[in-house]
Amino acid sequence: MTDVRRTAAWAAAKVAWQQVIDQGLVDCWRCRLPIAPTQPWDLGHPTDRPHHAAPTDLSVIPHCRPEHRRCSRRAGARERRAVTAARMIDGQDGRLW
Ligand SMILES: [Zn+2]
Repeated sequence: MTDVRRTAAWAAAKVAWQQVIDQGLVDCWRCRLPIAPTQPWDLGHPTDRPHHAAPTDLSVIPHCRPEHRRCSRRAGARERRAVTAARMIDGQDGRLW
């Protein structure tokens, strides 16, 4: 299966969204703050499948919404930190964070 993010339809959706973002009309669906025209952003899928499951169905594209790239990356980092934290609790310094 093809990762939908590598398709022309995905690229077209990003171009269409960029035009709206350029007008300052789009809020990030994760943090609800506006996405400035100069800010890097990604197209995310609020249906919230696990990030390791790449969308493969073109039908998800209409459901995708722009998100700040930092919010997108933070969501992935949060999952990784949760795993690390679970290990830390059993670790040498016992620090909870
Ligand atoms: Zn955001």
